[in-house]
Amino acid sequence: AELQRARSEKLESLGTLAAGAAHELSTPLATIAVVAKEVQRELAGTPVSEDLKADIALIRTELDRCRHILDQMSADAGQATGEPLVEVTSTQLAEEIRSLLDARLVDRLRITDRSDDAVVRAPRHLLAQSLRGLIKNAFDASPEGSSVVVLLERTAKHLVMTIQDEGPGMPPEILSRIGEPFFTTKEPGSGTGLGIFLAKNVIERIDGALRIESNSNEGTTVVVQLLRKREPWEATPAP
Ligand code: ADP
Repeated sequence: AELQRARSEKLESLGTLAAGAAHELSTPLATIAVVAKEVQRELAGTPVSEDLKADIALIRTELDRCRHILDQMSADAGQATGEPLVEVTSTQLAEEIRSLLDARLVDRLRITDRSDDAVVRAPRHLLAQSLRGLIKNAFDASPEGSSVVVLLERTAKHLVMTIQDEGPGMPPEILSRIGEPFFTTKEPGSGTGLGIFLAKNVIERIDGALRIESNSNEGTTVVVQLLRKREPWEATPAP
């Protein structure tokens, strides 16, 4: 528990740092963007070389890209801040995840809930956001139009969520690195490499576990185990 608290504090300060850095950088970036636009406008009617015009256009494109990265960084890092634990049922969790996904993706999401409405104690929105991120990853990896399968099951101790995709999977050298903060194979602007790192931390903070199984060309299976709140009739028998 001590170790977990230390980790969660570390995570919060990392999140604060990332969100802070993104925020600090956004002002100078906005200024540069305005100036670049102005320069481009001024040069438009003059006989400067096409190369120079192309360079200015490139500066503007790259500034846009930075803007996107920063926006996503502050959104992802914002997740890391504290939220109280509440009781949430598997149905509520599935509902919340659906509400966070693009409607187009919801249509391709196959959720089967066999957990009989298992209850977990969790930071509800943070957890839903984290799981949504894992499902979004599955869609990002999936071939066009294919579905992502999510299974919710109840075991003696856990609510287990399994997320399965038909994507290309991951070779060992990628698999061993995912979950490292800022590790991503996506284009700048579409990935920050914070998703799995933050999800793992949110899940472990409530004594759950995140496991990823993947091989090249075999798709990926993400297994999330969440400690289940025992129902009254499951009370442990007296010793
Ligand atoms: P991001 O999605 O921003 O890149 P994540 O931490 O969520 O950050 O994921 C890190 C990397 O893990 C991704 O860039 C991708 O290479 C890989 N990855 C995650 N989920 C999957 C998946 N379901 N199939 C294939 N690769 C995946």
